[in-house]
Amino acid sequence: MIDLVEKLYTNNTLRKHELIQLLRDIEAPTRNHLIKKAHATRMHRYGDLVYMRGLIEFTNYCHQNCQYCGIRSGNPRAERYRLSLDEILDSCRIGSELGFRTFVLQGGEDLYYNDERIVEILERIKEQYPESAITLSIGEKSRESYQKFYNAGADRYLLRHETASRHLYERMHPDMTLDNRIKCLQNLKEIGFQVGTGFLVGLPGQTLEDYVEDLIFLQELKPHMVGIGPFIPHQHTPMSHEQGGSLTDVITLLAIIRLLLPDVLLPATTALGSIDPIGREKGLKAGANVVMPNLSPTTARAKYALYDGKISTGDEAAECRICIEDKIRNAGFTVDMSRGDHIDWRGLS
Ligand code: SAM
Repeated sequence: MIDLVEKLYTNNTLRKHELIQLLRDIEAPTRNHLIKKAHATRMHRYGDLVYMRGLIEFTNYCHQNCQYCGIRSGNPRAERYRLSLDEILDSCRIGSELGFRTFVLQGGEDLYYNDERIVEILERIKEQYPESAITLSIGEKSRESYQKFYNAGADRYLLRHETASRHLYERMHPDMTLDNRIKCLQNLKEIGFQVGTGFLVGLPGQTLEDYVEDLIFLQELKPHMVGIGPFIPHQHTPMSHEQGGSLTDVITLLAIIRLLLPDVLLPATTALGSIDPIGREKGLKAGANVVMPNLSPTTARAKYALYDGKISTGDEAAECRICIEDKIRNAGFTVDMSRGDHIDWRGLS
């Protein structure tokens, strides 16, 4: 088993059957070795820096109906909200004063925010904070829409593929197709965005062969960012009584992803911090190098409830940042407030 980790560390790839073997047979000593190698790779590529992104959850309206998600259209009990343009700009101002140089605008697929409105938001933010990067994460759109967003100043786009297993994807996403998700990711790459994708860990029925599909997909797409996190049940979804994903599985997969894609920007996600009080720190030690503190107004935080038990729903942005920074430092890393572009983008922006 240690041989497989060494091979992955040296070659940054493994054959499908080797990945299956690694995930199937891994135990604590090999996992610890894997984590050490992932950490060494991250130190070699990015040093001990942890890039900070300010997350603004600007709408929880969504016309999609993902089975696992608390803001799905089929949840009549979700308390819906939208931030106005002024509220979004205010969150950026607070973030900018705290030193953030990346704003991540995330939301459900909210038809109120048509292309024109999104373009206006992007232009206003870029006008006021030209030195900052903007990441959009608003789901599946046409290539034309993505191009408009890019032209208006969006630098990056996050669209998790959620699972590369076709049968699981279809079970989790009625009315959506994996092919369209992948087409969107290809369009985003071709347009010139720094592209993030990723997947959920611990969905009901998800097998280690499914994770291997995800890993192979990542190797083929070569995204600039990969967000993975545990599935966590939400009380008002059809999956409320299912078991959530495990910390160990997420950590193992984070470490493997760091070795498969050594230059990738890899968040230690809020969901990871929500299932374990030191989940994000464990993620950082296994190769993750991005953290996304929440800049949304506190009135919106709890309403952006994708899953139960989400952390940091009550803190003000400044408190949130200080608390996370302390955790990052105590874990032995250095907070970096720059734009934190992918290595291939350095010097280009
Ligand atoms: N609408 C955009 C999209 O589809 O990419 C962005 C918003 S969506 C709510 C953001 C992410 O939340 C999804 O990619 C999904 O992986 C994650 N998510 C949703 N429900 C979740 C749950 N129950 N547990 C963990 N993560 C969840």
